[in-house]
Amino acid sequence: MDDVVGTAEPDVAVEIADGVWWVGVRLPNDQFQCHAYFVEAGEGSVLIDPGSPLTIETTLDKVASIASLDSIRYLVCHHPDPDIAASLPYLSTRLTRADVEVVTEWRGSALLKHYGHRFPYYLVDEHQWQLPLGERGTLEFQLTPYLHFPGAVVSYDTRTRTLFSSDLFGGFVPDNAVLVSDDVDYIIDNARPFHQHYMPSSELLTAGLTRIQQRWPEIDRIAPQHGHVIPGPAVNAAFEGLKAIECGVFTLADADMNLKRLLHIAQARTQITDALLHIAEPMALVSAINSILAETHEARDSALFIDLPDQGWTMWGLGHTKPVRRTPPQDWPAVELPGDPVAVLAIHTVDDEHPDEDLLDMLHGMASTLRPAIDQYLSEYQQSRRVEDLRKASLTDPLTGLGNRRALETALPLGDYSLLALDLDHFKAVNDEFGHASGDSVLSQSASTLTSAVRGDDSVYRVGGEEFLVVLPGADETRATRVAERIRASIASLDLTGQAPGGRMTVSVGITTVSAGDEATLSEALKVADQALYRSKEAGRDRISIGTLPPPSA
Ligand code: GH3
Ligand code: MG
Ligand code: MG
Repeated sequence: MDDVVGTAEPDVAVEIADGVWWVGVRLPNDQFQCHAYFVEAGEGSVLIDPGSPLTIETTLDKVASIASLDSIRYLVCHHPDPDIAASLPYLSTRLTRADVEVVTEWRGSALLKHYGHRFPYYLVDEHQWQLPLGERGTLEFQLTPYLHFPGAVVSYDTRTRTLFSSDLFGGFVPDNAVLVSDDVDYIIDNARPFHQHYMPSSELLTAGLTRIQQRWPEIDRIAPQHGHVIPGPAVNAAFEGLKAIECGVFTLADADMNLKRLLHIAQARTQITDALLHIAEPMALVSAINSILAETHEARDSALFIDLPDQGWTMWGLGHTKPVRRTPPQDWPAVELPGDPVAVLAIHTVDDEHPDEDLLDMLHGMASTLRPAIDQYLSEYQQSRRVEDLRKASLTDPLTGLGNRRALETALPLGDYSLLALDLDHFKAVNDEFGHASGDSVLSQSASTLTSAVRGDDSVYRVGGEEFLVVLPGADETRATRVAERIRASIASLDLTGQAPGGRMTVSVGITTVSAGDEATLSEALKVADQALYRSKEAGRDRISIGTLPPPSA
């Protein structure tokens, strides 16, 4: 018979392949409904995964509508779960034939006996993993370890090429009237939560499915114990879809399993792993983790903290566009990403008092995966900091900490500005009489005096041995003169007893003011300021002279 989609008659047997009958029972409001199958083979017929006391009577009624109950010779139990085998005691009385055997694997038999039934065993592992069905062909068996029982098996009817896949391809079925479906997305959507819940790991699942495909490359339909019967054209896609399911997520939880919640977390883990493949920058990493965690509804925010060797605790995240100095908040649960330097991902949980253990377990489990991205970034970050340090050093005068001539050239003011060119008077005498160290000290004190005499957006440079330059953005000649006078007086009033001749030092200053319309280059302006400075020296030092730029050429 052709594949049947969505039969609305729950109380009849459905022939899903030649001589292969669905004889399951749909329990009301049960998304976990169980499928039993009957394989017609004359006096050696097979009842596959018979069921439990809840279903077995109806199942036997359905079998009786096809063949005599006395035709049942074999009771295949793919694994010993009660939804498959709890009917064995009942069957011990209902099936009167003496030679009925339970077909299973040795680990299954060790548990099945505890149901207290009368049937002897046909152990497939002792019969080359086969059950001959006479003219009809053979029922072949394949071990699928730990899916989800250690000795779980699936079976295959060689005549109809039907795979009885037991719990594999099973699903929680929202619409249990749909027996057969070739809609692979729908099948996998139903199968996903079931497999995530029941199968121990993606690796074991993939290994088991691969074994099945290698053993039976020409499967014509899949008949699982739960979920939907999958017809031939959809079989390969169903295998691929099932292999892609992330299993084993319940190893994350000790107790209090909330399926939906844990699936959110499992999904987040997959997405974080994906994000890691593409992101090597902490800010992007943190924002990816945040948007993924948001979907778990368990975390409000997260931030990455790294205890950088030269800078201390540095934070990425919490809305900052750049890393900022900050220590991890004490009351946020933190996941350490093991390595050197210390790095932690701190989680701002939705409920501050109850950090979600499953979420933290998931992140702990991923911590070592996150680390290489951090290390990669850190080496680039430290490298760029070294470059930045070198750049700064190349623009800074080491004795005074002021910018040097190169710095001046890279920081030209826009618009109007004034320049003060300054040169300490008779500085050579400081060195000559008090030594070079005193000279250095006088230079440092002069630099500090200059810096404190100007405003925040003014800048002071050391452009030669005892020569300085002050740039006053927006300052006209009047203001520049006032600043110059303040500087001159401050230097003159420094108490340099024991460091300079007469215990004091003076400075000569040249001023020039540049207006936006002047079209003067910096070097032209500097030249005019230097000439004014020279005039101050000529006129007796410790004074200020003003130089004027030539008028713009007509
Ligand atoms: P004037 O009033 O004409 O400017 O005379 P001056 O002695 O200040 O000028 P001169 O250019 O003749 O001498 C500057 C001296 O500054 C010469 C040099 O030894 C000294 N000097 C330059 N750089 C440094 C420095 O970094 N530390 C010390 N201690 N001395 C320096
Ligand atoms: Mg000098
Ligand atoms: Mg000089």
